[in-house]
Amino acid sequence: MTVNLYDYVASVPDYPEKGVIFRDILPLMADGEAFKQATDEIAAFAREQGVDMVVGPESRGFIVGCPVAFELGVGFAAARKKGKLPRPAVSASYTLEYGSATLQMENDAIKPGQKVLIVDDLLATGGTISATIDLVEQMGGEVVGCAFLIDLKDLNGRERLKGYKIKTLMEF
Ligand code: IMP
Repeated sequence: MTVNLYDYVASVPDYPEKGVIFRDILPLMADGEAFKQATDEIAAFAREQGVDMVVGPESRGFIVGCPVAFELGVGFAAARKKGKLPRPAVSASYTLEYGSATLQMENDAIKPGQKVLIVDDLLATGGTISATIDLVEQMGGEVVGCAFLIDLKDLNGRERLKGYKIKTLMEF
């Protein structure tokens, strides 16, 4: 039996600012069946691309990406917000829907030639994922796909990620 994943997204009006509808995916994570279904769908996409490493940006990219890596039996590497990594790192800056930031990965997190799937909860403008792609490519990894639970279509993130294979489970 499959569930309707849309039933597990809470839409919160005027958060974090007036006029914005925040899509909260924590209810999806809180339901075992919905969480497994979403993970299975992303893992199926990953298998088609022959992924051998999963990367997720802090912090919801960890929640969505880790179970995918576990299901595939491959490693997971974290793209963290600036200043949190103890070892030498590569950096990439980006503009967010609500501000700007820098992401970092430890500079041996990806081996040259590894086929990488990047996973996050939601695609908005594509800034976060563009920076994550930049980090992976700085280390010589090949980004073979990007997967999201949600695509906020009007923000045209897919346009910004042109040339990369994109999988999204829901659109708003
Ligand atoms: P982008 O960089 O503009 O594509 O924004 C995507 C990032 O912002 C993701 O890491 C999301 O976690 C976060 N984000 C933006 N809007 C929302 C939302 O409505 N719900 C949950 N996360 C959001």
